[in-house]
Amino acid sequence: MENVIEKQVNILENGLDLATIDPRNGPQFSPNLYLFLKKRGPAWAGTCRVYRDADNILRIGLLDDGWLHGAWLMGVLCYGPLERVWAHLPGSLGDLQEITSFWTDYMRIGRCAIDPEHQRSFIGDESRWAVHDDERSCLWCGNAHQKLETWVEEVRHDRWVAA
Ligand SMILES: [Zn+2]
Repeated sequence: MENVIEKQVNILENGLDLATIDPRNGPQFSPNLYLFLKKRGPAWAGTCRVYRDADNILRIGLLDDGWLHGAWLMGVLCYGPLERVWAHLPGSLGDLQEITSFWTDYMRIGRCAIDPEHQRSFIGDESRWAVHDDERSCLWCGNAHQKLETWVEEVRHDRWVAA
């Protein structure tokens, strides 16, 4: 009984509702992230947060007294439950900036919360874009429109040949 109460409190802590990000709700939700969180269990999933490290890399995990018990977010997206969680020494990742709106955004627009600039490719990217000629719109968040830019680069070569 104690356990149940603890779980409910933990789930509320980071604002994430796992049922909302079930990939069966839409292709914007990463199946690998969902499986990873399911494997970690409700206490971990209910308290994990997303941080940007000094190298602009996103980390998912728990910050405890300066230690980050976490994983590389893109690794989680690629490898799901196989991605390892490591304990990182305080300061070893530089200043960790929490992305406080991450779970709220992710529940709303899925993986576009990880790539608001719409520059990355994801597993299942073919479900992301509606393409019309040289323009495309994002179906995951409904809020990005891009046009295809094409350019030609001149490449100069030289080599020695018999004179
Ligand atoms: Zn989008």
